[in-house]
Amino acid sequence: MQEEKIIVIGAGLAGLVAAIELEKAGFNPVIIEADDRIGGRVKTDKVNGFLLDHGFQVLLTAYPEAAKYLDYEKLDLQYFNPGALVLNREDAYRISDPLRQPSRIIEMMFSQVGSFSDKLKIFKWTRALKATTVEQIFKKKETTALQFLKKKGFTNVMIQQFFQPFFGGIFLENELNTSSRMLEFVFKMFGEGYAALPAKGMGAIPEMLAAQLSTTEIMLNQKVEKIGLKSVELENGKRIAADAVIIATNPEKLVPQLKGQFEDWQSVLNLYFESDITPIDEALIGLVPDEGMLINNFCVMNKTAENYAPAGKYLLSISVNDTQGKDDAAVQQEVIRELKELVPELAQAEIRHLKSYLINKALPKIDDYQYSMKPSNSKIQEGLYLAGDYLLNGSINAAMLSGRLAAHAVYEDIKGRGFKS
Ligand SMILES: Cc1cc2nc3c(=O)[nH]c(=O)nc-3n(C[C@H](O)[C@H](O)[C@H](O)COP(=O)(O)OP(=O)(O)OC[C@H]3O[C@@H](n4cnc5c(N)ncnc54)[C@H](O)[C@@H]3O)c2cc1C
Repeated sequence: MQEEKIIVIGAGLAGLVAAIELEKAGFNPVIIEADDRIGGRVKTDKVNGFLLDHGFQVLLTAYPEAAKYLDYEKLDLQYFNPGALVLNREDAYRISDPLRQPSRIIEMMFSQVGSFSDKLKIFKWTRALKATTVEQIFKKKETTALQFLKKKGFTNVMIQQFFQPFFGGIFLENELNTSSRMLEFVFKMFGEGYAALPAKGMGAIPEMLAAQLSTTEIMLNQKVEKIGLKSVELENGKRIAADAVIIATNPEKLVPQLKGQFEDWQSVLNLYFESDITPIDEALIGLVPDEGMLINNFCVMNKTAENYAPAGKYLLSISVNDTQGKDDAAVQQEVIRELKELVPELAQAEIRHLKSYLINKALPKIDDYQYSMKPSNSKIQEGLYLAGDYLLNGSINAAMLSGRLAAHAVYEDIKGRGFKS
């Protein structure tokens, strides 16, 4: 057992993985978490028998780092069907995944979204990505996702009808200004695994990480206010000594020298409704390319994971990237109107609002997206280390990876030995 005291600030995925790795190295870390529960941005509420994730999120099973820390079988993962349903005012079309659902190639080739050559390009691109490692993707020259797609020669129709709503829902911005590296990384992950939800909600992911901790103390409802010399100071004035501190959250407020460095984030408004009729009869994500509409994407959660709603009800999750200045009540009315326009079968449905989540700091905007980094780059000064998705890229994978790297940096400094990753 190591005697040094290590404090981890934040019980999000990065902080939890850092603690797992510190325990493996023999430390008994202390996690200090401001909230009343663990999980950070990955949490699930229970409301009237429905499971509501804090923002629509999915676990991509191909994430290399997630596969290291999560037991997918125990999480009882429930899978989305590959592809998506594109809904316009006049029509709805299905985009399939040609590599995993060969029987759907014909349907896809002749579906109305995009041209025949677009579909061949998707097919070739998916295959090329199979032969490219995630590390190679993040070494490529960076452009915006939109510039990348245009350079690849995709038609405007394909970009507007599929890529913009699909990746807009992932990047939480409609213009596809996010990095081409992120576009290729996410597209590769979708091509090589599945998008899934744990049967008990996304909150089961941090719960599973926490269950791997045995000697770590987790202090909830304790906000770190300041970092001192070999210590942290809590909001209530209490000072806790530490040999090393890992800040597993945006460090701007805690480290004055970093002020302004991580201030740009994408926000999203996620609304949940219960309905007695389902707009989609499959485990598919619905995309809304119409720029005049508020809805970016939606999905019937219990078509993928049945636990998300009580029997006989449907749980609709709707994501709005840009509220166009409207307040929550106005957005609620508008998205129901849009949904009924897009899916005429819903005309008589009773759709009741359950809860909305406005997440202002949902995904970090990063200048130079990275897959990984040297553990030593986590260190910002003697005894002080950083972890969190904002260091690499906004994803569950990056959050976990950053936690592991920070823990390894601490270990290497304290023990002066290399660490096997
Ligand atoms: C709406 C939405 C959709 C997303 N969709 C996906 C997706 O589909 N797939 C995907 O891979 N990723 C997705 N993500 C991203 C993913 O959720 C994050 O990358 C990841 O959860 C970040 O984890 P983290 O540990 O780095 O940070 P956080 O989860 O932000 O954890 C930081 C923790 O630190 C705590 N904290 C902060 N300040 C203090 C303090 N002073 N003292 C003590 N504690 C403090 C916070 O309370 C929090 O618990 C999405 C995120 C959102 C919000």
